[in-house]
Amino acid sequence: MNVNGLQKLTLLDYPGKVACTVFLAGCNLRCPFCHNSELIPGSAPAVTDDAGLLDFLKKRQGMLDGVAITGGEPLLRPELPELLLRVRDLGYSVKLDTNGTRPEALERILAAGLADYVAMDVKNSPARYAETCGVETVDLGPIRASIELLRAGAADYEFRTTVVDELHDESSFTAIGPMIEGAKRYYLQPFADRDTVAFAGFHAPGAAALSRYADIVRPFVGAVGIRGDA
Ligand code: SF4
Repeated sequence: MNVNGLQKLTLLDYPGKVACTVFLAGCNLRCPFCHNSELIPGSAPAVTDDAGLLDFLKKRQGMLDGVAITGGEPLLRPELPELLLRVRDLGYSVKLDTNGTRPEALERILAAGLADYVAMDVKNSPARYAETCGVETVDLGPIRASIELLRAGAADYEFRTTVVDELHDESSFTAIGPMIEGAKRYYLQPFADRDTVAFAGFHAPGAAALSRYADIVRPFVGAVGIRGDA
């Protein structure tokens, strides 16, 4: 199994853990603000494979305590459950990032107890979901099914939105709140421009707007946070 990126140490990607981040290329969405746009094609070059990753993790036992799996969309990889099993056998906690479009794969992983923490993107209101994902149409059924699975609580979880001034306004959060009603926690992450973002012209909203958006969602969820700098 190809591994397309490995950040050997992160204190940010896995809340509360000293972790590494594993990047698995291939995504079924095309979010124009994607921070890992070079990993959208499944053909992105590999930096190692599953055996190489497991060797690295054996050497880091006692130094790292978590592995954050991101992409791309990791749930597109049929070999993911086997990899997670082996990572957990080495004593690591697993955090999984997902865009929520593959609830069947998510359910298999949750049922097998292979993820300790799942971070799922809720991209925007239904009205602007496809635009925000960079695709013509998007079926919200699987995304709502993934939300339901996580709300059922088989693993710890968060929902999150990367907030882009050109794509989000108050109506986005008026719609997102009911979509995730009853959820444990929700984060707003202001867009941050990087060299790896394929399209120019996106901006983060200001702090006042982020705070307003957080207030809109707050009545629907257990806790709301704002990550990073606006
Ligand atoms: S779902 Fe994530 S990895 Fe896929 S294009 Fe969107 S931001 Fe990038």
